[in-house]
Amino acid sequence: MPRLDPQAVTAKPWLPRRVLVTRSARDWGHGRAILDRASRLGAEIIELPGDRLSLPAPEDPRRAYADAKATLAVVVAPPSKRRLQPIAPSADWRVDLAEGCPAHCSYCYLAGSLKGPPITRVYANLDEILNGLPAYIGQGTITSRQAGRMHEGTTFEASCYTDPLALEPLTGSLSATITWFGQWQANAQLRFTSKFADVEPLIGIDHAERTRMRASVNPPMFARFEGGTSPVAARLSALRRMAIAGYPVGLTIAPIIAAEGWEAAYAALIEDAAAALNDVPALDLTVELITHRFTAGSKAVLDSWYPGSALDMSGALRTTKRTKFGTEKQVYDAATMRMLRRFFEHQIADRLPAARILYWT
Ligand code: SF4
Repeated sequence: MPRLDPQAVTAKPWLPRRVLVTRSARDWGHGRAILDRASRLGAEIIELPGDRLSLPAPEDPRRAYADAKATLAVVVAPPSKRRLQPIAPSADWRVDLAEGCPAHCSYCYLAGSLKGPPITRVYANLDEILNGLPAYIGQGTITSRQAGRMHEGTTFEASCYTDPLALEPLTGSLSATITWFGQWQANAQLRFTSKFADVEPLIGIDHAERTRMRASVNPPMFARFEGGTSPVAARLSALRRMAIAGYPVGLTIAPIIAAEGWEAAYAALIEDAAAALNDVPALDLTVELITHRFTAGSKAVLDSWYPGSALDMSGALRTTKRTKFGTEKQVYDAATMRMLRRFFEHQIADRLPAARILYWT
């Protein structure tokens, strides 16, 4: 397997400097288990007297960012957060086990969707979240619209507002959710995508093929935009381990960046993915292709978080696209999109013939 080292170094598990826990979160066994783990690993535990996260934020925005990124909050997901939202084209429904992520990607999509300082919040009432899912069975629109996905049943995406694998050593939420889906006698699929590689806790789970893990990948030349994540080679090795353990798997190639040298870089990435996966027996492999985009709001947040980033958000090669919610985003212009799409469809058909492309966006 060229360029792919199964022992590739993974990012060290994230250890927050401090863990805030609300009063209600302490009532849940899952919340207390998270605190126990964090405390044993040496994090400072701060018990809040109520359920509000009130933090004195430093005035210096860099300091405020660093403090927030070093903070984990254990909270209870209120009913409004447990009411699921449709999340096309990835899945029928978005299910959140957490909000926020400890990594530092200079294109992070969370910058446009989460408000306030980027504290990572994990939910203590996991049982309540999972017990709400059966009401959504058969209610999805994606799986019934996209050819080739009907057999997946109703799909639930756990990576919209977080990277659940990044938090797994502290929370155990992802393992518990995979186990729950494995036991659930319903035509349903849990989905998550990750830029992390420590899949060890997931390997022995009786998942009943009801969870699809995708590795979120980009060529190593873009690794400088993905601070605090696992190396791409380690993510591909992790995906291979998951596939051998019988999980359906996938690649989320995202965000696709049309910077100088992109063709050779993405061709090598797809070659590496093929080397990692093509000999896996009974491989069930999908690919999701997501081009880089940003809004004026997310650009402003990202510029403040990563002022020195070399990621191009200048407007070159871009066009404005109006979303169905009436907002505007900057996407690659039609000619660039056509060129990228042709390239990826050709490369994937050639190098990963077993793969099904779920969508291009
Ligand atoms: Fe954002 Fe994903 Fe990077 Fe985390 S890993 S910072 S969620 S893009």
